[in-house]
Amino acid sequence: MSPYDVLILGGGITGAGILRDCALRGLKACLIEKGDPAQGTTANSSHLIHGGLRYLLYDRLTTHATSWDSGHIVRIARPLLTRLPILWPVYSWHTHGLETIHTLMKAYSPFQKMKYGLPPLRLTCEETLRLVPGLTAENLKGGLVFDEWVINPTLLVRQNLEAASQMGAEVLTRTETEESLIQSGRLEGMRVKKESGESVEIKAKLTVNATGPWVNAVARNWGLFIPLKLRKGTHLVYDVSALRSQFSDSPVGMLLEAADQERYIFIIPAGEKILVGPTDIPCHENPDRLRPDPDEIRYLIQSTQKYLKLPEDFQNTLCGARPIIDKTGNEKLLSREYEIFDHEALEGLKGAITIAGGKMSSYRMMAEDLVDLLCRKLGKSASCTTYRKTLPGEEIRDIPQVSLPNPLLKNFLMNHPRLREIHALAYLGAGFVKHILTRTFTQEPPPPDLWQYYHDLKR
Ligand SMILES: Cc1cc2nc3c(=O)[nH]c(=O)nc-3n(C[C@H](O)[C@H](O)[C@H](O)COP(=O)(O)OP(=O)(O)OC[C@H]3O[C@@H](n4cnc5c(N)ncnc54)[C@H](O)[C@@H]3O)c2cc1C
Repeated sequence: MSPYDVLILGGGITGAGILRDCALRGLKACLIEKGDPAQGTTANSSHLIHGGLRYLLYDRLTTHATSWDSGHIVRIARPLLTRLPILWPVYSWHTHGLETIHTLMKAYSPFQKMKYGLPPLRLTCEETLRLVPGLTAENLKGGLVFDEWVINPTLLVRQNLEAASQMGAEVLTRTETEESLIQSGRLEGMRVKKESGESVEIKAKLTVNATGPWVNAVARNWGLFIPLKLRKGTHLVYDVSALRSQFSDSPVGMLLEAADQERYIFIIPAGEKILVGPTDIPCHENPDRLRPDPDEIRYLIQSTQKYLKLPEDFQNTLCGARPIIDKTGNEKLLSREYEIFDHEALEGLKGAITIAGGKMSSYRMMAEDLVDLLCRKLGKSASCTTYRKTLPGEEIRDIPQVSLPNPLLKNFLMNHPRLREIHALAYLGAGFVKHILTRTFTQEPPPPDLWQYYHDLKR
């Protein structure tokens, strides 16, 4: 008899979400994390629970699905989240003008509603500078404000793990995997070395590889390969006081076109810190030894200094590797979708499953899909309830009925990056025409007062 139904490798947000889902469905589960919870990509992320405004340019259905799951995350983890107003200042030298960005934000509005976001607010130059007096005024055309949620990702992981532990799941941190226990084409679990130095066999009917950027290191030991592309992302971390004088009130978030006009950089106030980043470059390093390149640091400072007086002496950096499913095509069109690899169906290795890709903002949905598969394999009929209980375990009553993207279309577009981009641009093109016609021929409702809007956003 296997002592566990499920053994999960990896204590980032993906593994933690899966553990909680397993525990809520009555599966006997154990999670192994080689270091501390969240220490990998999760803690080094931009700390946002968001739908991904940028993906509307080439991957609309991922924005849709991620916004949908972000709504669930807001309900289950509300005390961990802070609403963040984000200003996008627009300059005459920018790639996109005010109308295009306004169109993009209007296109985001239906998805914003799924996660309790407010409609965007368009600002004049004067209003933009009232909000951020430290901003460069030369060539400023105006600004747009939208909102996202900031979270402490480590707490999100810990609370998922704690919730699962309280329901009987086991969590072993600082535990290294030593050997995969493969017998007659079946993965039966792992031999692991505990923090105490003791080496033990942990057997399970199913083993899930949820190790983010390390999925291939684990899969190699199973004789398998996962098509994954790692992209490195670095943030500079400042104490909030370093930028305090640039803002009229408490710091707002900002989205800035970078110096190379290829990318965008966030300024994200998160508790007592401000994150400036991230970069997005190919990552060829071992994820255990990630370090920011001097070029990345220069890029972030030079880009931000075009807008704000950013000191060069930051406190520290966050550096993580995005685990992105590698589909052939343009690097810029790589989807943030996730994929589940059932190694029994794919390569004939029974008992082994990998989950890769995705976002922190869709972790609950990723876990639901994966645990549905585990239940089918285990012959259990329990359905997912992770969205019906807060992390501390209280029932959630008002769950709006919101539809998900059509799964057939989503799968098809996932495998056709060019068509996925055309699908996204067709929506934006139609939105642009509608926006221009509305602004030209109809009286748009008067915008809300800036400070009232800003006040509502901060609630
Ligand atoms: C710069 C950057 C910014 C981002 N910003 C956002 C954002 O704002 N919002 C958002 O939604 N998403 C964001 N993402 C994406 C998001 O962070 C990731 O999709 C998510 O954190 C991945 O979580 P994970 O659990 O899969 O991987 P990880 O967090 O990396 O967790 C994997 C864990 O597995 C452990 N591990 C590795 N090997 C083993 C082993 N053999 N045995 C046991 N444990 C092992 C590691 O120690 C690690 O803790 C960002 C990513 C990056 C890089």
